[in-house]
Amino acid sequence: MKPKFIKDSTWDKVLNFLASTEIQTPFLLIDGDVVREKLSIIGSKIKNSKVFYAIKALPEPSVVKLINSTKAGFEIASQGELSLLKELRVSPERIISSNPVKSIPFIKDAYSYGIRLFAFDSETELEKMSLYAPESRVYIRLSVPNEGSDWPLSKKFGVEPDRALKLLIMAKEKGLQPAGITFHVGSQCKNIYSWATALDKAVDLWRKAEKKGIKLNLLNIGGGYPIRYTQDVVDIGSIEEKIDQTLKEKFPDDIEIHLEPGRAVVGDAGVFVTTVIGKAKRGEENWLYIDAGVFNGLMESIGGIRYTYVVGSRARKKRWILAGPSCDSFDVIDRNVVLPEPSVGDHLLILSAGAYTISYASEFNGFPIPKTIVI
Ligand SMILES: *Cc1c(COP(=O)(O)O)cnc(C)c1O
Repeated sequence: MKPKFIKDSTWDKVLNFLASTEIQTPFLLIDGDVVREKLSIIGSKIKNSKVFYAIKALPEPSVVKLINSTKAGFEIASQGELSLLKELRVSPERIISSNPVKSIPFIKDAYSYGIRLFAFDSETELEKMSLYAPESRVYIRLSVPNEGSDWPLSKKFGVEPDRALKLLIMAKEKGLQPAGITFHVGSQCKNIYSWATALDKAVDLWRKAEKKGIKLNLLNIGGGYPIRYTQDVVDIGSIEEKIDQTLKEKFPDDIEIHLEPGRAVVGDAGVFVTTVIGKAKRGEENWLYIDAGVFNGLMESIGGIRYTYVVGSRARKKRWILAGPSCDSFDVIDRNVVLPEPSVGDHLLILSAGAYTISYASEFNGFPIPKTIVI
């Protein structure tokens, strides 16, 4: 029986793969067709938009290769991500970095490779970029409300419009090209109005900059598109129609729009395949242990992301505490999971697990980083 929140065709592929493989779990299966489909949808409703896949969501070479065969570019933050793209000979015009605080070695490498589009939100960053990435186009990270997103990012980066204006002026004085504005509404943002609020803030800065003689031409609206984990979410088409409407009303119509989705590109495409390794009754609690946990793939579960879990068993349903394989008490994935009782050795599948799973995984306690396989 096919569970909710997965495409029929993905489900069939997963079952076929599992029926014919001997590979030891845990591993992540990625449906390449879903990735392509997502990339054909994202940006399609926003005029003059370009998509840059935020590679940190899943920097797997086979997935990056697949994305490189589409029109999308890449958003990177580090030398490691850059070297992956260099190996695949991705041209520098298709790469941007929206990390507002970059290391000097990374700036140098990115610049020498030919990358000329960088975010910033401080004077210190401008000083570094004017030395090591002179004349680049730079865009300011504005802080915007992150309410309504399951994985907020606003506290770490971004400045308010007044400070942003000063920094744009400073960028020009330092020989950089102040090109535009960026923001991030927070990851897994389920509030369709968050983008409108952010755009209002951006247009205010845009106009203030214009009055100071700084003509911007780039608006990067970050990532944040949500996926279905355990419930339906607002669809990307509706979010983009609303964004496009706001853009038409408030911004000049010849500007370039950049999108940097991560989660929405690979999340729904992924099924994490794990195996039940143990069960225990502790007082009233039923504990279920699997071979993947918060240290080797399911880190986001401790920050509020909840997944849909599937087992093949038809036994009576029970309430479980789902835990990973390591000896650390932090390694608890979900304290409230209702599932038919599986046997040790059974598969436990985790749906919508393509994003921020393997990219977060470590080898803590000797449990390997799960492989990723495109199907
Ligand atoms: C992580 C990140 C993204 C991707 O965000 P999603 O919520 O996965 O779409 C985009 N832009 C920047 C600057 C990021 O740090």
